[in-house]
Amino acid sequence: MGNSKRTIETPTARPSIQAATRGLLGTFARGHPRNAIESHVKEIKRTTVTAALPYANGPLHIGHIAGAYLPADIYVRCLRARGQEVLFVCGSDEHGAAITIRAMKDGTTPRAIVDKYHAMMGKAFVDFGIHFDIYHRTSAELHKQTSQDFFLKLYENGAFTEQEELQYYDEEAKQFLADRYIKGTCPVCGNTEAYGDQCEKCGSALSPKELKDPRSTLSGSKPVLKPTSHWYLPMERSQQWVEEWINNGVLDGVQQHDAGEWKPQVLGQCNSWLKDGLRPRAMTRDLDWGVPVPLPNAEGKVLYVWLDAPIGYITATKQWAMDKGVAWEPWWKSDDTRLLHFIGKDNIVFHCIIFPILLKMHGGYILPQNVPANEFLNLEGQKLSTSRNWAVWLHEYIERWPDRQDELRYALASILPEFKDSEFTWKDFQDKNNNELVSILGNFVQRVFVLCHKFHDGKVPAPSGGNEQDVLLWAELNILPNKVAEEVDRFRFRDAMASAMQAARLGNKYLTDTEPWKLEKTDPERVRTILFNSLRITAALSVLLEPFLPFTAGKLRRMLGLKELKWEDALRADLIVPGTSLGKPEHLFKPIDDGPIAAEVERLHASAPLPAGPVISNDVPAPPPAAKANITFDDFAKLDLRVGTITAAERVPKADKLLKLTIDIGEAAPRTVVSGIAEHYAPEQLAGQQVLLVANLEPRKMRGVESQGMVLMAEDADGKLVFVKPSETIRNGSEVR
Ligand SMILES: [Zn+2]
Repeated sequence: MGNSKRTIETPTARPSIQAATRGLLGTFARGHPRNAIESHVKEIKRTTVTAALPYANGPLHIGHIAGAYLPADIYVRCLRARGQEVLFVCGSDEHGAAITIRAMKDGTTPRAIVDKYHAMMGKAFVDFGIHFDIYHRTSAELHKQTSQDFFLKLYENGAFTEQEELQYYDEEAKQFLADRYIKGTCPVCGNTEAYGDQCEKCGSALSPKELKDPRSTLSGSKPVLKPTSHWYLPMERSQQWVEEWINNGVLDGVQQHDAGEWKPQVLGQCNSWLKDGLRPRAMTRDLDWGVPVPLPNAEGKVLYVWLDAPIGYITATKQWAMDKGVAWEPWWKSDDTRLLHFIGKDNIVFHCIIFPILLKMHGGYILPQNVPANEFLNLEGQKLSTSRNWAVWLHEYIERWPDRQDELRYALASILPEFKDSEFTWKDFQDKNNNELVSILGNFVQRVFVLCHKFHDGKVPAPSGGNEQDVLLWAELNILPNKVAEEVDRFRFRDAMASAMQAARLGNKYLTDTEPWKLEKTDPERVRTILFNSLRITAALSVLLEPFLPFTAGKLRRMLGLKELKWEDALRADLIVPGTSLGKPEHLFKPIDDGPIAAEVERLHASAPLPAGPVISNDVPAPPPAAKANITFDDFAKLDLRVGTITAAERVPKADKLLKLTIDIGEAAPRTVVSGIAEHYAPEQLAGQQVLLVANLEPRKMRGVESQGMVLMAEDADGKLVFVKPSETIRNGSEVR
């Protein structure tokens, strides 16, 4: 389901999740009188995490990884380290017309297609450290039984209406035509190659009967309309409870989730569907590839792939439980289970509306507690496109950059499209590696190990009493484990990773401030304490970074001679034992030159043909905004523009977009400035950054904080925001004119 080529006719799955260690009681309200809701705080015993089933008609690319799989993996690893019971399921989505069409094009069978990509994707996940408990597939026999049973139960419960309708039929091929099997002229833009469900040129969603001059892609003949019957899910009957459940978190009078924890864009998409009014949707298709409809007189019909695919999560759970000899039901049917679907934004309606309706109509199942869908990842200024080969394919990355999974995990985790689309560039990948992984993390660990080997024979030195520097260090370190965990629980993985990396930044600063390499001559006892503390930071890094950089965390553990640790062990004082021999320092990261980066960019352009014909509007950079009216020099001279340096940055509580910055512009006291850049920069990134400040802007209160000026930023039409700053460092307070 994770493949963006997938059409709406075929269910695509990119799952999502929800963390909920926070109480749900605090969220009653929202227009509901407190006494109208049964007082019920869901106590969580276990978490079922699903990641969208990737569609088995092509390999995985980094857009899929950033959309669903990496966030889900980070989330699951963090929960596991904290001792929580989690099940993480995924599998290949192997049905639907897109696969039969692919098989036709390739001159092979649907089975051959799905076997190939199921194996390829399963291996790429393993190689990349995406660690599912089970990676299943929807063409498995168990899935056929599971989804047919599910369908029959819905049927018995009266969930469907049967409707006869006229549908295109190919008299030469002797079969009804799925939407994708019909091409014709788009009524909107005149494209003669539009599909029965969508025009790929103008992006319009279509139905086959809207196409002009329809033709069958099977035989090329003109199809005829013939009556056929299908089973529909009358979704409009569920409109009321779905609205209540999504927006207030209340189902059958019981508080199930806190809608305030759902991402605004997820709620927005759901509500736009709800506002239009839910409508009946066919749950069966005329197709010869899929799960057969288990009813008499349903020959040649299969379950709609968007019905069968999410049931694949349940099938995967069953298979896992059978393999383990445990019960599967608690993971889907127990009130004390939290169900989370990690998906990309193209799958929101299926996971937030259609699948929940199916689960509720079936009965006995819990509904998702959250669906933290991600937006899309772009690549080098353009939308990722499988058909244009504008993509970084995961299996190819692993081949070309062997043993460098964490470098890509890091680059992607730092730009996850959590609240808006984001962009991967090879240059940024290089920068993140060289300036952060090598310079901060690698450099710190390297310095610690070199000094331990140089001064202490590769053994852990014994510490003596600490001083004020140490007290400050621990004060800053001690808050990090909870901070990272809390950010992970809120699906803010970018922030969480930045907070984990803060331990390495603090470690570097500690070494730079204490200079043990100089001190060894005059105060070797103090050096022993410094190195001991630094080894403890390294141990903490092996825990805090594990969800993000599991390969690196493993190396750190080996170097320190530690076993796998729990989250709560991160700063345990007795982890590092004086006198223990340290392992060989392993290479963590090496700098990446311009050569291989340029080669990647070139490869991308060489293999992707230029888009044919008019490009979909999102592909074209929007023109810059229109010019403004002239002003006089005197108008300009009224501005007091100053160079300043950010000395501290923190989030403004309850304001997703705002950061509170402390900026030194050479005055007696630094300025406090509130800036709307929190979605672009983590607070940890900002200290030391030089900026331009409009210093004489009337002070203004935002969220209770007085802002004494405005930081200048440049913004492009895609909403990318960067600092405007002097080309080299200049004294704070310097005037700009
Ligand atoms: Zn069109």
